[in-house]
Amino acid sequence: MEKTNRYEFDGEVLEVPLRWDEFSQQYVEDYSGVIESPIYLPSGRPVLLTIEDACPDADMADDDPSSIDCGSCRHYHQFPGSLLGVCLRSKEKTKQKDREKEEKEL
Ligand code: SF4
Repeated sequence: MEKTNRYEFDGEVLEVPLRWDEFSQQYVEDYSGVIESPIYLPSGRPVLLTIEDACPDADMADDDPSSIDCGSCRHYHQFPGSLLGVCLRSKEKTKQKDREKEEKEL
């Protein structure tokens, strides 16, 4: 049976596979799947590495111009003990677009 770390956020579950690391002699999270192709929670929220390049919608927590990654963004929720986290911005944008669409339809 494959070893995984399990994270829960906002009622959604993410399981991250583990791999044996010879150097540290312990199991570590295997991010190869995330690097090869993006992964998403069932709600559509993207799961990103903290070192992912920031997108144009970034809102940096420290207002430091040298902040360049998702890990510095207010919209990023990092799982404790992991280099992975969820971008909450995309969900907010989706909700905002849905609201704008509903308003146009009225
Ligand atoms: S967390 Fe989301 S909004 Fe923030 S920089 Fe990353 S992708 Fe962009």
